[in-house]
Amino acid sequence: MSYSQQVFDDLSSRYAYQPEFLQAVQEVLTTLQPVLDKNPAYQKNKILERIVEPERSFHFRVEWVDDKGEIQVNNGYRVQFNSAIGPYKGGLRFHPSVNEGILKFLGFEQIFKNSLTGTPIGGGKGGSDFDPKGKSDTEVMRFCQAFMLQLHRYIGSTVDVPAGDIGVGGREIGYLYGMYKRLTTKYEGVLTGKGLNWGGSLARTEATGYGVVYFADEMLKARGQSLEGMRCAVSGAGNVAIYCCEKLIEKGAKPVTVSDSRGMIYDENGIDVKVLKQVKEEERASLTRYAELVPTAKYTPVKDYPAGHNGVWTIPVDAAFPCATQNEVNEEDAKLLIKNGVKCVSEGANMPSSIGAINAFLASGIAYGPAKAANAGGVATSQLEMEQNAGMTAWTFEEVDAKLFNIMKGIHENAAETAREFGAEGNLVLGANIAGFVKVADAMIAQGVC
Ligand code: NDP
Repeated sequence: MSYSQQVFDDLSSRYAYQPEFLQAVQEVLTTLQPVLDKNPAYQKNKILERIVEPERSFHFRVEWVDDKGEIQVNNGYRVQFNSAIGPYKGGLRFHPSVNEGILKFLGFEQIFKNSLTGTPIGGGKGGSDFDPKGKSDTEVMRFCQAFMLQLHRYIGSTVDVPAGDIGVGGREIGYLYGMYKRLTTKYEGVLTGKGLNWGGSLARTEATGYGVVYFADEMLKARGQSLEGMRCAVSGAGNVAIYCCEKLIEKGAKPVTVSDSRGMIYDENGIDVKVLKQVKEEERASLTRYAELVPTAKYTPVKDYPAGHNGVWTIPVDAAFPCATQNEVNEEDAKLLIKNGVKCVSEGANMPSSIGAINAFLASGIAYGPAKAANAGGVATSQLEMEQNAGMTAWTFEEVDAKLFNIMKGIHENAAETAREFGAEGNLVLGANIAGFVKVADAMIAQGVC
């Protein structure tokens, strides 16, 4: 049995109750065997056994008082997965589905993604099962303050730097930052995604969505194709999806769908990003509101999706951008997209495709950009925010965007070149995993057993 299989089997027997974590590990380990064979030092130093366990993990109780004066209790977490190449870095997710297994999957992915950016940041992730939906601003503020009351002990600008993720946007980062400052009396870049007049970076809000499109464009360019004129399916309607749509339109492509947890919008005329921002960023409303404002848009609730499918992937398109959440593209969805002529899939969400879906995309030979490469623009720009904070300076939007573009181009080149080196031309899953792994594994060996 191969070394990677042995480690995976052992992990599976211990963490069967964390299926998303096991899925994320499986996706990486099944591609690493060629580099493990080439460099026996990785097995000798037990790198796989070490890299699949977080260095440290915190679970804490978060108590807060709602607007009716009732005490509420939530679970809070921070998983500090790997600091071999830099301080832990990764978002905070507030969603009722959050548990330690979900955060371990996200933190594990983050190690390789952060390595791929070429910047010195380690991997971590955190969050809570708190649901910001339906809460007033003051409830969200009290929750964020209670969360930071616990979290501040474990983070710092050279220790661990959280950012946003699902359910954590500019509002939440503001409340979290205010409380961190009050508790520590330090004004430092301990969170990224901050507001522009208090240490944030221009283009951070846009970075993940823009980066996903830059990555798609690089994949297509390498095949002599372009996004221009392509019809695109986008899922999600949050931070990543909105700015993915915006950049697609700038590139001359046409996003025809967006979705949220309750349903989807399909509009042959293309998504109106201005209205989408109003509905999701300002009104925090459901997509039914979008359909009220845009008469040509067709709204379909989740219950009316064709059996076994996410409705978004049933629309025939040239390019697909999953930007909502994990496992939103199953094998049947992937096969349908391929049958309908999709040429490119670039992942904005983390682990949006099941292993069956990934295998279908790879077997079809389409341009497939896995999440840890395609959505790395967000964390890369967070690192640019850290750099600006450390230098007490602020760059222009154009400077940050140009750096983001170069990082995405570099990630694509690195993953494509690594895939070629290991005899798997075009397989960016293998290329990204090996390229991300080698840098971290070599640093772990250099730093010894500690
Ligand atoms: P947001 O909270 O801004 O938006 C999430 C969107 O996805 C919402 O439209 C939400 O709908 C929808 N969604 C969430 N859960 C589900 C679900 N179970 N089923 C269907 N739809 C769902 O989050 P982001 O845009 O920031 O994050 C989206 C994805 O991108 C996540 O996988 C995240 O990990 C990943 N990502 C984010 C980065 C960032 O910089 N923000 C960086 C890299 C990756 P509703 O509002 O109805 O819940």
